[in-house]
Amino acid sequence: MLSQAFHEGWGRRMNQHILIVGGGYVGLYTALRLQRKLHRELRSGEARITIIDPQSYMTYQPFLPEAAAGNLSPRHMVAPLRRILPKARILNGMVTKIDHAGRTVTFQPAEGEPRQVAYDVIVMAAGSISRTLPIPGLTDIGIGFKTVGEAIALRNRVLHLLDVAESTDDPEVRRRALTFVVVGAGFAGVEALAELEDMAKHSTRYYRNIQPSDIRWVLVEATNRVLPEVGPEMGKWTLEQLRERGIDVKLDTRLESCEGGRVVLSDGSEFDAETLVWTAGVKPSPVVNDSDLPLDERGRIKATAMLTVAGTQGAFAAGDAAGVPDVTNPGQYCAPNAQHAVRQAKVLADNIIRHLRGQELVEYRHKYVGSVAGLGLHQGVANVYGVKLRGFPAWFMHRTYHLSRVPTLNRKVRVVVDWTLALFFKRETISLGEMEHPREGFRAAVATTRR
Ligand SMILES: Cc1cc2nc3c(=O)[nH]c(=O)nc-3n(C[C@H](O)[C@H](O)[C@H](O)COP(=O)(O)OP(=O)(O)OC[C@H]3O[C@@H](n4cnc5c(N)ncnc54)[C@H](O)[C@@H]3O)c2cc1C
Repeated sequence: MLSQAFHEGWGRRMNQHILIVGGGYVGLYTALRLQRKLHRELRSGEARITIIDPQSYMTYQPFLPEAAAGNLSPRHMVAPLRRILPKARILNGMVTKIDHAGRTVTFQPAEGEPRQVAYDVIVMAAGSISRTLPIPGLTDIGIGFKTVGEAIALRNRVLHLLDVAESTDDPEVRRRALTFVVVGAGFAGVEALAELEDMAKHSTRYYRNIQPSDIRWVLVEATNRVLPEVGPEMGKWTLEQLRERGIDVKLDTRLESCEGGRVVLSDGSEFDAETLVWTAGVKPSPVVNDSDLPLDERGRIKATAMLTVAGTQGAFAAGDAAGVPDVTNPGQYCAPNAQHAVRQAKVLADNIIRHLRGQELVEYRHKYVGSVAGLGLHQGVANVYGVKLRGFPAWFMHRTYHLSRVPTLNRKVRVVVDWTLALFFKRETISLGEMEHPREGFRAAVATTRR
């Protein structure tokens, strides 16, 4: 295909269909750039773009902790694909199989029978899911922290359990309700814990019988450090901060089991908890296993530095689902983070255009610049371009950086309005857990109706 294009040019290859699997960071930013750069070809029918994703929106994952803490509305941290990408077709459902040799995917729509979708160029941008271990009881109380649904369910759960603790006479029920465990002290785990702990502490002012010290937060980490993304010095500072806040940080410790909510750790400690958040790493979306595309030793799509799938024509991959060689650090791969995903999407889109025009592809090159993390209202930690910040300046940097990154002006304005409202009227501290079971009230009403 490529050599044909090389000799004939794009002019004779009408209606090139670019299929993007996943509408997250890589999917959205690739499509945005293609939409802008191929506007003529999209109009004339020389090219078309389809995105397949179960959701109709891209989730800005770095804002999940803030949404869980009630500083942001969940609707404002997602970018609606159909609105932002009017030139692309959005199909909602899952890609369940990829037959790259036959240039088709199996698409399972949200409703109805699966069907085949043919393509000329595929972009594997299906991201990652929580990497779990076969720990007894993990599905009893465990919840991940990767989606809007999980973040909001967790928020509702924490606030609901404060209600439970306030309303019970049983000290065991109370202790169990007020014990929260987070497993994994990377970005997602530390930010989720810090924001939720801050929210729970803030909320206790509205409860008569719960003091901040009654709530127990336990952070379990298998290695000997927290937040490696900000480097050893700032990681150590973060650890001290968390411990000063009364958070029980257990390093070099593994979760052994949590059957029925009985948490057993490898340091010998045992206690009951109602909630366990699992943030101990990610693995590629399972769709990569149902494809004829090559995988690397860690089960990711084997990508080249040009963001093509190794040994193939017409297949590209980036983001969390792909093992992309880090050319700035030979022998290493790019870490699974948004910093790489956004930049890779730009190069990937340009390389698709070069591929279609029969031009030479370029390498993706970006040296990791460090990270910034929010640790609750007015608290943060940062190590960016070697500049180390802590406390309020880091928190301010965290907010301004992510505000500049969240897609579209529309979302930026909504986020600023949310933050401003929370500043003047305090954050929302109500549990809307009822929304997770909207038909229960109606079912109960039907059950009590006399025949
Ligand atoms: C809580 C949290 C905080 C984070 N904070 C930061 C941060 O501050 N800085 C940073 O750099 N990174 C951060 N990250 C990491 C960053 O969000 C990810 O690295 C980034 O989202 C990866 O982009 P992606 O496009 O590969 O995957 P995603 O953005 O996850 O998109 C993948 C998409 O593929 C879809 N999909 C999956 N399977 C299929 C299928 N079979 N068919 C169709 N569609 C499918 C999914 O629904 C999803 O929409 C954070 C992550 C989390 C969870």
